[in-house]
Amino acid sequence: MDTARELSDRLATLLRRERSALAEFLVALAGFDARRAWAELGYASLFHYLHRELGLSKGSAQYRKVAAELIQAVPAVVEPLRDGRLCFTTIIEVARVVTAENWAAVLPRFYGLSRHEAAEVVAALAPHPAPPVRTVLTAVPRAPAGSTVELNVPAVMSGSTVEPVAPAPGSSRSAALTPLTADLQRLHVTVSERFRRKLERLRDLRPDLSDDALLEAAVDLLLAKAEKRKGALTERPRASVRPSRDPRHIPAHVRREVWERDRGCCQWRLANGEICGSTHALQLDHVVPRARGGEPTAGNLRVLCAAHNLEAARRVFGDALIDAYAPGRRVGSS
Ligand SMILES: [Zn+2]
Repeated sequence: MDTARELSDRLATLLRRERSALAEFLVALAGFDARRAWAELGYASLFHYLHRELGLSKGSAQYRKVAAELIQAVPAVVEPLRDGRLCFTTIIEVARVVTAENWAAVLPRFYGLSRHEAAEVVAALAPHPAPPVRTVLTAVPRAPAGSTVELNVPAVMSGSTVEPVAPAPGSSRSAALTPLTADLQRLHVTVSERFRRKLERLRDLRPDLSDDALLEAAVDLLLAKAEKRKGALTERPRASVRPSRDPRHIPAHVRREVWERDRGCCQWRLANGEICGSTHALQLDHVVPRARGGEPTAGNLRVLCAAHNLEAARRVFGDALIDAYAPGRRVGSS
């Protein structure tokens, strides 16, 4: 029978191999990204490629994407990753502060650190001028379908209470507010699993907005609707809707038809024959462009994500023209 020492030596060998294989993978991935090989396969970004083609979870894909980009900017991170001085789980924190200029001084500060310790180093190197805006999802015991969302919101919002369509089990109407600073408060609200899924979907559709901005926009919509209903009795009747003369106008029923047909996701064909399927920053694309006489009909329209809409335009008009209109915007740059 093997001794404990022999078993341990075997584990140490396997661990060395694991780190070495990861470093090798990341170097190859950096090269793959540098020549934008993912775009040749039809993907909108390296992240998308890792998630869809290699089947990595979104979290794993994000880590590897950040690492591949960091390796291109600072090749010196490869060796510490390979020999274990730098833990792979700290890579996102490392990428926030380490640059081609400062790596010799800054990189060693991360050696041997956990992810949490690395975040503390980043906070010390680049402190936040204000309390960080944060969202925390906590499972609520005894209410299996519920979660608590914690948000820092501007004080101007604190007059509102937010309620899901139907109250979640065990939830109350009032959300607790904790003052943080003069103009920031933390909102604690118990929400259903259904609400969490809707929030996820909204985050996908509007990655440009923080959670508190999303929530405020939703509150604004509800406020406008309630106020409109209040004022509707006294309002003058609206002028009848006439068809638009603007050739760029896409009638609402056409939008709806295309959206339903394409099931609200990007229809771009990948090299492997599947469709992109992204729900991120969706746009309606004219298959035959408007500039070439393409009509705003359901047959000539399709749903594309922003990255693939840009790629479609590049294929029709060429890089030179698109760069003149959207300089620096390449597929996957977002
Ligand atoms: Zn797409």
